[in-house]
Amino acid sequence: MSYFKNKALGLASTGLRWTDNNMERFANLESLPEPLNCRQGCHYCCYNQPMVTPPEALFIGHHVEQTFSDKDQKELIVKIKKILKTTNGKKPDEIAMMRHDLPCIFLQDGMCMVYKVRPAVCRTCCSTSADHCKSIFESRNHRARLRCYEQVREILKTVHLHLVDRCRKMGCQSDFLYIAEAI
Ligand code: SF4
Ligand code: SF4
Repeated sequence: MSYFKNKALGLASTGLRWTDNNMERFANLESLPEPLNCRQGCHYCCYNQPMVTPPEALFIGHHVEQTFSDKDQKELIVKIKKILKTTNGKKPDEIAMMRHDLPCIFLQDGMCMVYKVRPAVCRTCCSTSADHCKSIFESRNHRARLRCYEQVREILKTVHLHLVDRCRKMGCQSDFLYIAEAI
């Protein structure tokens, strides 16, 4: 494995562990008015194209290489091509409005295929009502606001800034990418 890839995998792993630790601390705050309702298998927010930093993309890609069967890798490529064709030339706003028809490439039978290595944006989901997420999804009212804690954005922003900054310092690509493009 190249020096840079190894370094990027270490960066992502540390950043994602830091994210989990901070999310756990946040979820356990006694002052939290309502508990978080997010859990594995709840997937209305997975009808989206999450944005990832390059180290997160490498981390997920490495996991795919190591653990997906040939059949699963081929199916993934088909999904990626379909998403790229549908989103080609579209602005981020337009893509967000099409989210009903754009499930994440790793969503399969309502479950995340890369849950252990999912990116920071997915680890910082923080809704207090899965029912509310469901009703927004089913009504296709994609401009409606989720019932989320704004403070969690700081956790996501901090880990993203750190990963992007380290990429820049290493002289590597540092732009955010949609997960389908990145993989
Ligand atoms: S953000 Fe909503 S849809 Fe996503 S895991 Fe949390 S409760 Fe479920
Ligand atoms: S990476 Fe997993 S958790 Fe994140 S949007 Fe995709 S399927 Fe959902």
